[in-house]
Amino acid sequence: MNNGVSATARWTAAARADETRRDDALFTDDLAGDLAGPEGFARYERYANPGTTEFLAVRTRYLDEVIAATPLPQVVLVAAGLDTRSVRLTWPPGTVLYELDQADLVDWKEKRLAELGARHTCERHAVGTDLTGPWDGPLRAAGWDPAAPTLWIAEGLLFYLPEQDARTLLARLASLSAPGSVLAGDLLSHQSMVSEFTQEGLRRLREDGCPWLWGTDRPEEALTESGWTVREVKVPGEDGAAFGRWPWPPLPRDTTGLPMNFLFTAST
Ligand code: SAM
Repeated sequence: MNNGVSATARWTAAARADETRRDDALFTDDLAGDLAGPEGFARYERYANPGTTEFLAVRTRYLDEVIAATPLPQVVLVAAGLDTRSVRLTWPPGTVLYELDQADLVDWKEKRLAELGARHTCERHAVGTDLTGPWDGPLRAAGWDPAAPTLWIAEGLLFYLPEQDARTLLARLASLSAPGSVLAGDLLSHQSMVSEFTQEGLRRLREDGCPWLWGTDRPEEALTESGWTVREVKVPGEDGAAFGRWPWPPLPRDTTGLPMNFLFTAST
């Protein structure tokens, strides 16, 4: 893993390892600590901000619940990073899971998972590709069927892409989706990019070669304009996006000057 953006996967793996250690953990990811390694934990500390640890746990649990509630035959983790849902979740029989991410990360992860003796609980295909390019070719080559509905999970990705690339990706996901497909993931608010409370963290991410590039205060619009029908957009703290881990009330949507994250589910 030799670039800054793919190394962010180690950061979120460290967050999952941290959550796993809790008595009241929202999920258990026994491989996360090994996958994060010392670099992941160093980044976890370096990017720590009030709410970050809590949000990362809530985000993963939110998406775990979407997955459990959406038994579709194929699931694509769009920018899977060091996600181990193929190991830690129980999948309906016949589910085929595809993991997309940058080739260097995929190569490294496959080797490391083999060393760790990971046992996958579903059919799984890891595909190295650039999500700002024609990524659906490699996905089809791995066996993904555009005629069947797909559950797409975009966790911790969209703000690492330039706005145009992120919007193009959202639109391509919609146009590739057979009826009945679902997309779930997260977006950052524009406030998160400009708030005085995030500037130090953003500087560190820039320095490390993994800047956040895009946030929007109108997530519903971004999804709708890309061809999705929004089912829900939640901010942490709302019912279904707190899980006893988010200790603050949800921020009103029109709050300015404070960072905000959105969790969303949409369908075709
Ligand atoms: N979804 C995982 C998780 O929650 O742990 C990974 C999140 S990590 C913060 C961001 C991921 O996006 C990294 O694994 C990185 O390699 C991937 N990524 C960023 N830009 C990408 C691109 N253009 N093509 C493929 N993957 C990309």
